[in-house]
Amino acid sequence: MPKARIVVVEDEPAIRRGVADALRLSGYDVTEAADGAVGLREAGAAGVDLVLLDIMLPKKDGLEVLSDLRRSNPTRPVILLTARGSEDDRVRGLKSGADDYVVKPFSAKELIARVEAILRRTMKPVPEVRLVEIGGGTIDLHRREIRWADNTRADLSETEAALLKYLVSNRERAVSREELLSRVWGIGTAGLETRAVDMHVARLRAKLKDPAGDDQPEAIVTVRAHGYMAGPALTVADEVVATTAGKR
Ligand code: CA
Repeated sequence: MPKARIVVVEDEPAIRRGVADALRLSGYDVTEAADGAVGLREAGAAGVDLVLLDIMLPKKDGLEVLSDLRRSNPTRPVILLTARGSEDDRVRGLKSGADDYVVKPFSAKELIARVEAILRRTMKPVPEVRLVEIGGGTIDLHRREIRWADNTRADLSETEAALLKYLVSNRERAVSREELLSRVWGIGTAGLETRAVDMHVARLRAKLKDPAGDDQPEAIVTVRAHGYMAGPALTVADEVVATTAGKR
């Protein structure tokens, strides 16, 4: 199972470091943010599994961070770090979509237990897409091959297959170029530009064109100012449940 990535947004250095250290000791990959503006950016980054969010923060209030995050990442798990007695904040936080809260001062043990409970719920194994139907053809993502009705075949490169798999696995939403860079190309994308994504999508689109079909629906839809989405031409025909846990 991949290490879960947690963002800690807290302006008091002692608390932030204490929380971050406790999480790292438990095996989590932790990013720290000391104000609400940086916090929102980090919390909304691709690949984050959970956010610990203080409410009283400089630059941007924690509840504001939460409501902005909910617009960009509606399901990303958030635990609020709240002050004793601020019941109004807790209620407002839960109403704004926080998953849970802990009251300061909390013990590392209590916090880790809450984190684990939420991650158990959200990091469920997800089925892995294997076969995708496209008009008169079938795409086999394991073999990285497209077979058309007239028996012609086209091979997909490893990157093209991974890109297509990611789009199809997240077919209910549009995926940004940045997310594709980080999730398909992996970490260490420095130097790689989002233009590389566009180039691969163009190549993939050309391969996904049915040699027999003139008015085939779109296989990959461009979402303006954002990225791409699996199009109406693609239907998942077969999924296998992977043995390792994935991310929802
Ligand atoms: Ca604070």
